[in-house]
Amino acid sequence: MEPRQPNIIFIMSDDHASHAISAYGSKINQTPNIDRIAKQGMRFNNCFCTNSICTPSRASILTGTYNHINGVTTLASKLDGRQITFPKLLQAAGYQTAMIGKWHLGHGGHHDPTGFDYWNVLPGQGLYHNPEMIEMGTKKVFEGYTTDLITDFSLDWLKNRDPNQPFFMMTHHKAPHRPWDPSEAHMQMYKDIDIPEPETFNDDYSTRASAAKEAKMRVDRDLNARDLKIPIPEGLTIEEEKKWKYQRYIKDYLRCVASIDDNVGRLLDYLDQHNLTENTILVYTSDQGFFLGDHGWYDKRFMYEESLRMPFLIQYPRKIEAESVNDNMILNVDFAPTFLDFTNLDIPDQMQGSSFQPLTRGELPEKWQTSMYYRYWMHLSHHNVYSHYGIRTLRYKLIYYYADSLDQPGTIDDRRPPEWELFDLEQDPYELDNVYHNSEYTEIKQQLENELHRLQMEVGDQPYPN
Ligand code: CA
Repeated sequence: MEPRQPNIIFIMSDDHASHAISAYGSKINQTPNIDRIAKQGMRFNNCFCTNSICTPSRASILTGTYNHINGVTTLASKLDGRQITFPKLLQAAGYQTAMIGKWHLGHGGHHDPTGFDYWNVLPGQGLYHNPEMIEMGTKKVFEGYTTDLITDFSLDWLKNRDPNQPFFMMTHHKAPHRPWDPSEAHMQMYKDIDIPEPETFNDDYSTRASAAKEAKMRVDRDLNARDLKIPIPEGLTIEEEKKWKYQRYIKDYLRCVASIDDNVGRLLDYLDQHNLTENTILVYTSDQGFFLGDHGWYDKRFMYEESLRMPFLIQYPRKIEAESVNDNMILNVDFAPTFLDFTNLDIPDQMQGSSFQPLTRGELPEKWQTSMYYRYWMHLSHHNVYSHYGIRTLRYKLIYYYADSLDQPGTIDDRRPPEWELFDLEQDPYELDNVYHNSEYTEIKQQLENELHRLQMEVGDQPYPN
């Protein structure tokens, strides 16, 4: 007899880059519990977000649409919950549904979570310790470390569910988002060791568009006292101070990741102990990647690899082979159709992504995407990053910094001269050498510009009006 509908647990952290997960070959930490998912299932090596910032990526995940369609272009945007989302469709199909943790898509009116029988979410970014949460519309303060609490509430919900119906649960961690406050339990971790610096730690941004130089997210210059938490030692050289700041930043970041890893272990243990592992699809991902000192930066936003790439690990022992690896390109807009496909529900026409369920079976659908469209709208806000759009193919990346606010919410109306970047990822995986003006790439450049405009039209977005 075919077992009943699979359960789904979607664990998403905030700003957890794949290069801080040992299953992805991290050189700076170990994540034994997150790695259990890779061991029991499939690791996707090329999962990308279509806009590397919290709120927009979450909107794309829920709706399966790009941000110019779902209206959540910036951090100041809110999701209009009257749109179709995959949790609503799962709920309508008889799933018990829950959303626990970081929501960050607005509150009140049409912005509260919809499609969930139970929700208990942080307001906005939320706090690391003793957080206020909004449980089904009612504010309450809880005592404890937020990463632990979100897991406690997730386990409570699982324990109290109706075991005769399938369930879908979103467990969304606030960590390891800035300001990177570790739990008491991990405060001493990495105390006596130095974390290696990334290859591009001393990037000087030469050859690149001015956007890279102008960004205000540098480890040496832009981390503030709240981020560093202790005073900068006196008498350091400029170089020593940069190194010291990196250690302060990355250790707290990795300590926050360690709490997530422990808590992923608690959820996996619960599934094992209650005989739920076999028939549950469990995903670990993050809303985008993050710069871990790469290019001398913290934060995200840019279309560069470290911030574009999302971790995506999926286990479903009944259908997905253990320790499998996939290199095909998948996007955050593909998650919603994929979950609907796994549960044999119709995928609404409005959803723009495609189901990658066949990839999890080791099958490659005909005409599977080999290029993706990206757009960051939040011109100059927060970290002075210029608005841009572009495409990434299997080998190349073309970025156009149109550098204008276009009256998007929360942007700064101060135009900068538009600029282009082109990277050959095979020759230059760290994206240090912008070859846009290199005559050897004239033909490639033209092909990529054509593909950019084709993709832009295909997803229904508009080119910048020059
Ligand atoms: Ca985020």
